[in-house]
Amino acid sequence: MRLQVLSSGSEGNSTLIRAGEQAALVDAGLGREAMLARLEAGRLGPGAVRHVLVTHGHLDHARSAGLVARRERATLHAADLSLHHPWARRAKSCAALAIGRDQALPGAPSGDELVYRAVPLPHDCDPTVAFRLEHQGRVAVILTDVGRPDPDVARALSGAHVLVLEFNYDPGLLARGPYPALLQRRIAGGRGHLSNAEGARLLELLASAELHTVIVAHVSKKTNRPELARAAAAGTLERLGLAGRVRLLVASQDEALESVEV
Ligand SMILES: [Zn+2]
Ligand SMILES: [Zn+2]
Repeated sequence: MRLQVLSSGSEGNSTLIRAGEQAALVDAGLGREAMLARLEAGRLGPGAVRHVLVTHGHLDHARSAGLVARRERATLHAADLSLHHPWARRAKSCAALAIGRDQALPGAPSGDELVYRAVPLPHDCDPTVAFRLEHQGRVAVILTDVGRPDPDVARALSGAHVLVLEFNYDPGLLARGPYPALLQRRIAGGRGHLSNAEGARLLELLASAELHTVIVAHVSKKTNRPELARAAAAGTLERLGLAGRVRLLVASQDEALESVEV
């Protein structure tokens, strides 16, 4: 299985998963043109994506999900409530997400299935999920848009070889930044986003013997800096004695990250 973060941040999120003969997209939050250009950066021709999975209905994750599903002739998987939103209606094939249990995506030959587990998250859009994706014993976890480092969430997402994890804001930059007080409270609240320190705490809960790559994600352009987010993650890996063997990458809003072997 390979994982490539195509875009990450408050302007749009999308991650491409390639597993055997099939490909799946987790979120498609960029606008049409940018989204299709990033898919191109993943070097996939039309029709290659079989499934589009949506974490939640916020537009930075869902904006082009239906459109991409239609163009790729893929099935759109979203929490059933979300299927009625305008962004979902364009998809010709829809499926309600299975929440909290392992579910194989249909269409793969036996032994080659991509299995997802959608784990509910505290976030101000209900429902919001993280994804644990497993293919032939390899595990990728995509966990963003979560209000606090919840140990139950960490337990449900255990065993990642590759972990995409939110480090959204720096509290000092949030307080001095452009957002009004109400929005600041929403972001920092228990159903908002993770600060760098909270991301570091969640990384501590999630880091296991299998982990080999951490991708710092959903880094705010306005209330964070990539080097601060990276330093928070690096500090945790250092403390856990994992700095030497776990690779650390920072996903970007502006360009696709390299493809990583899970
Ligand atoms: Zn988001
Ligand atoms: Zn969100």
